[in-house]
Amino acid sequence: MVSKSPFYKYNPVTQPIVDKLAQIVDPRFVITDKEKLEPYSHDEVADQGHSCMPEVVVKPRTAEEISEIVKLANREKIPITPRGAGSGLSGGAVPVCGGIVLSFERMNQILEIDEGNMMAVVEPGVVTNEINNAIASKGLFYAGYPMSVETCFIGGNVAENAGGGKAIKYGVTERYIMGLEVVTPTGEIINMGGKRVKDVTGYNLKQLMVGSEGTLGIITKIIIKLLPLPKVKVDLLALFPDARSAIAVVPKIMTAGGVIPTAVEFMDQLSVRASCDYLNEHLPYQKAGAMLLIEVDGNYEEVVQRDYDAVGELCFKNGAIEVYVADNYTTQERIWSVRRNIAEAFKVVSPHQSLEDVVVPTASIPDLIPELERISKKFKVQVPCYGHAGDGNLHATIVKDPDDSMDEWHKKLPEVLEDLYTAVKNLGGTISGEHGIGSKRKDYMHLVASEAELEFMRKIKRAVDPNNILNPGKIFDVI
Ligand SMILES: Cc1cc2nc3c(=O)[nH]c(=O)nc-3n(C[C@H](O)[C@H](O)[C@H](O)COP(=O)(O)OP(=O)(O)OC[C@H]3O[C@@H](n4cnc5c(N)ncnc54)[C@H](O)[C@@H]3O)c2cc1C
Repeated sequence: MVSKSPFYKYNPVTQPIVDKLAQIVDPRFVITDKEKLEPYSHDEVADQGHSCMPEVVVKPRTAEEISEIVKLANREKIPITPRGAGSGLSGGAVPVCGGIVLSFERMNQILEIDEGNMMAVVEPGVVTNEINNAIASKGLFYAGYPMSVETCFIGGNVAENAGGGKAIKYGVTERYIMGLEVVTPTGEIINMGGKRVKDVTGYNLKQLMVGSEGTLGIITKIIIKLLPLPKVKVDLLALFPDARSAIAVVPKIMTAGGVIPTAVEFMDQLSVRASCDYLNEHLPYQKAGAMLLIEVDGNYEEVVQRDYDAVGELCFKNGAIEVYVADNYTTQERIWSVRRNIAEAFKVVSPHQSLEDVVVPTASIPDLIPELERISKKFKVQVPCYGHAGDGNLHATIVKDPDDSMDEWHKKLPEVLEDLYTAVKNLGGTISGEHGIGSKRKDYMHLVASEAELEFMRKIKRAVDPNNILNPGKIFDVI
């Protein structure tokens, strides 16, 4: 096999190695059948160019099994790619150098709900939404809320430091990770953090692991912090004539309005229309060039009402055409479902596209829309846009012009991305707020990280993974 890493040579997965894997893990969960390998060759990145077949998929049940697999891979110089639900949007779980895909499908137990400490202990293959389903009746909730919440795994959320719809008020995944059990790239099982609210005993390794995209360790157990479930939640759907006026309101909600909402999601008309068509749903998007979905939550009805009245008024003062209030679960779920399904809908409408994840400081978010309009005109591409505007993170999607040939599209896309990323950097932003670098954005890291910064990251990687076997070809090349 020809290794795709320009700097490391890997060995192929031979039959004797498959046999050894089948001695470590129940042989039914060592997969080599080509048809069954195919679903593990890609994640949710639309472009097929980012897919790559694994040589074998292994589904272990315990950290001890994973430790044995990692030791074998080090001896034999075979790359390992950890894989959660494969809902990633940066190619992170794709085995770009071939080798073993390590799937957490069987490590899917909620091990403990510790009400006294308001924490839960979970395995990495638990679907994120299942955590909230299991704890809601106890008056608790887990604040992580990526729009893929119904499919992604909590281990994938930790590895990507997933953000999502509630980050303005509740922050992103890292805030809720209290402890981790990790198999190191050389096969030791170690623990980081624990149930202690305070802990400064040595380096903060668990935060190094959060967001490391499966390149520094394999997460096998997670202790997460839980919060009291807010008793009242109201959503506002504010319609604006155009994207600029909608986005201009976003920072004002917090500054002039003095309210920290749970969510402020931005959706332009193209995005809402695509998702409504996909779901056969009917929101009043025809009237609006853009919408804001604003959520406010709390424990007291009067307080929540005061907050959403203030936000609604502010929207009207700043050009909203209409503001609808959704205060029951069914209506709220209908609106959020439209928001959650935009990415899927665009994949159907525009299969040749690049879903981006740029992020700028919140006060700069109004300056991003004119940049997207400029790029759209300059390169003759549509750039529909939606995202978690309240935290500065917008999912601009670069869509192939139907008149362009595929060759023209492949030539044009890197130029568009370089222009977009440079514009974002000039606004104090960066190229990924939550989807990660993976293989998709690796070639653009130099635009936002200096050589010294990149080398610091490489030094960490080289120190913990001397054979570069854990998820090679992601974030940066290890030279
Ligand atoms: C419709 C849709 C909406 C989305 N919305 C959001 C959103 O709002 N916010 C957001 O942040 N993301 C979002 N995403 C992206 C994606 O869901 C997240 O990145 C998620 O955290 C990935 O989880 P996963 O289990 O699917 O991981 P995968 O895609 O399988 O893997 C992602 C990365 O994590 C690594 N990994 C997985 N499990 C482990 C483990 N146990 N140990 C070590 N490394 C591991 C993999 O190697 C890979 O690098 C969305 C995706 C889709 C398709």
